[in-house]
This record gives sequence, structure tokens and C-alpha cells, in this order.
Amino acid sequence: MIVAMQEKATEEQIDAVIDAMVEVGVNVHRTTGATQTILAGVGPTANVELGKFELLAGVLYVHRITSPYKLAGRAFRPEGTVVEFANGAKIGGNQVAVIAGPCAIESRAQIFAIAASVKAAGAGFLRGGAFKPRSSPYAFQGLGIPGLKLMYEAAQEYGLLTVSEVMEISQIEPMLPYTDCFQVGARNMQNFNLLRELGEVRKPVLLKRGIAATIEELLLSGEYIMAGGNYDVILCERGIRTYETSTRNTMDISAIPVIHKLSHLPIVADPSHGTGRRDMVAPMAKAAVAAGADAILVEIHPNADKAFSDAAQTLYLNQFEQLMSELRVIATAVGRTL
Ligand code: PEP
Ligand code: MN
Repeated sequence: MIVAMQEKATEEQIDAVIDAMVEVGVNVHRTTGATQTILAGVGPTANVELGKFELLAGVLYVHRITSPYKLAGRAFRPEGTVVEFANGAKIGGNQVAVIAGPCAIESRAQIFAIAASVKAAGAGFLRGGAFKPRSSPYAFQGLGIPGLKLMYEAAQEYGLLTVSEVMEISQIEPMLPYTDCFQVGARNMQNFNLLRELGEVRKPVLLKRGIAATIEELLLSGEYIMAGGNYDVILCERGIRTYETSTRNTMDISAIPVIHKLSHLPIVADPSHGTGRRDMVAPMAKAAVAAGADAILVEIHPNADKAFSDAAQTLYLNQFEQLMSELRVIATAVGRTL
């Protein structure tokens, strides 16, 4: 159930409503927006008489949430979520963020060169995998924590934030000091134990859509993280598997407006994994910004063709620079900045 408070509701009134909700046996999640406070009651509400909540002082309206996701649904935060990072950078809101970096951290020289380029191009987030989920057990698996430390050093040097994939619960703690945003990869979108654990962490989570996941399943996975009290969830469309073989995946651009309609969570578009082809990354990145994406995630490398992983979809640094200037034009056209 959702209880939306009036704009001028007092803290005492809000507390009284929370108490009444707890009394009927629901878990209360509170969000305090710019204009109003919304209380989501999660739990057995089927037999709760909602009318009585409407009579409580300071309440604007009450309704039952019919979707299976409660906290990830738009009604919980009608004005949309803006995830704010320690240095003030934001994902969500008017400015389109850019997350760029290699598929995998390979060496100090590689990640420092990339960090310099990310900064110079005006992006705020440096990505790079330290733990790589590879289809083949014989493929490069990533440098692990020592690699992540290199990326963190590079990010510090250039004033960037780091985004890196966490594959299992045991990696969370060692990654924490070097990671500003945990990425959950497509293969782990339904690793529910990992999601629950990330619900306990107080750092943003970038949750990628599974290759065969519906949007509803993606939102339910976001719900797992939010149910633990971590509301800083950023969703990511990275292409899904279809019968089409001319691209690695089929980039579902329509997922962007669909998710904006169903959910308040920011949505990132990843045209690198979404297409798997260097020549298709820029067109799909531009389409994603035009469709309302809150951020773009792209793989870049100074020697893209020689990247240890995902070389075919990785942009050269000059291509990334070019893309950034093109994205600025698109962002302006749709009333946003980049
Ligand atoms: C990645 O970001 O490098 C990655 C492995 O992504 P995905 O989980 O979308 O395949
Ligand atoms: Mn990759």
C-alpha cells in the first residue's frame, strides 16, 4: 500500500501514520521527496481496510499497489529518483551521466590512459571489470582486487567515480573501499542472495537487465535491493537475446520509456553490450539519450582491437570523444544536459 502525505504534513502526523501502518503488520519504507512524503507499506495488506488511513491527519491519498514490485514502482517516488554520489555527481535528474571505461582493467598504464580520456571528454564515471563473468573458463577472468585498486587510483587522480562488477557476496567487502557504484551484471540479475546483500550496503548499485529477463523481472530484482533499505538502485538496459544475429544482443531502446513509466529508478543504456559492435555503439547511444536514458555506459580502450575482453564492441578513445560531442547535441535537443 502507498500512503501519500499532504505537502504540509507535520513529522508528528507522519509518525502517527507510520505507527498505524506498523500496527496492521506491514513494513514501512519512507521516502521524503521535494514536496511530499510517501510511505510504502510492504506486507500482507490484502485485508487491510485502506479507508481508515485516509481519515488520518495529514494524509493526501491511500492506494493499494497492484504491481508485484512496490518500492521500485513509480508511485513510491512520483518525481523520480536521483542517485547522488559522495562528490555530488548524480544519476537521474536533468543531466545525462556518462560511465566509460574498459570492459576489464588490464594494467596501470591502460586504466590511467582511459581515466585521462574519460575526464577530458567530460564524463564523471570510470568503469572497469576486476571480476569478469566470462562465458569460457579459459578466457581472461580479470585482475581482481589489485586491478580494482589501480582503477581507484586512476579515478582519484582524475576526480572520477568508479563502477565495477561484483559477482558474489564475498567480493562486496574487499571491493567496498575502491568502488563508488557496484555493478550487478546481466548474468547475476537474478542472483537473489547477492541482491539481498547489496540491499544492506549503503552504496549505489547499477543493476543490469538479464539477457532473457523481462522488464518486470528487472524491476523485481531492483525491489530485492530496495527491500533491504538501499534505495540507490540504477537500472541498466544492455540488450537482450533475440532471434536476430546481426548484433550480439538486441538493444531494447523501448525499455527506457517503459521503465520510466513503471518506475522512479534511473535507467542507464549500455549500447556496447547492447550491440556488441563498435560501429553500432554511437547510433544506439544517441537513440538512448533521445529516448530519455539517464546515463550512457560505454566500453573504451586506447587499443580497442587488442582489449582482453569485448574488443569488438570497444570504442577507441577518439571515437569516444566524438560520441560525447554528438551526445551533447542530442541531450540539448531533448531538454537535458550532458
Ligand atoms: C560488463 O559490463 O562488462 C558486463 C560483463 O556486462 P553484462 O553483465 O551486461 O554482460
Ligand atoms: Mn564487457
